[in-house]
Amino acid sequence: MPDMCPKCGLPKELCVCDILDRETLKKIRIYTEKKKFRKYVTVVEGLTGDEIERTAKELKTRLAVGGTFKNGIIELQGNNKDKAKKALLALGYAEDSIDIT
Ligand SMILES: [Zn+2]
Repeated sequence: MPDMCPKCGLPKELCVCDILDRETLKKIRIYTEKKKFRKYVTVVEGLTGDEIERTAKELKTRLAVGGTFKNGIIELQGNNKDKAKKALLALGYAEDSIDIT
């Protein structure tokens, strides 16, 4: 029995799920969340692995704000969606892959 993909049911050599997954991961979403005491945080979602740590550092430096990263998201203090996007573009991320919501 050939190796079948559990997701699409096609044989592994025809399956493109891995590629689709990678494309999806490249999507970066930027949005704000309101925290306690009317404080905003800007959330950058969609980065993985080492990239998230590196990018979190860069964003904090470039935006001159505090921030944290965990579980695949970066949280930056303040409402900085546009600045965060500009910084990501400067870091080499494609404009198409960044969604501000
Ligand atoms: Zn598949």
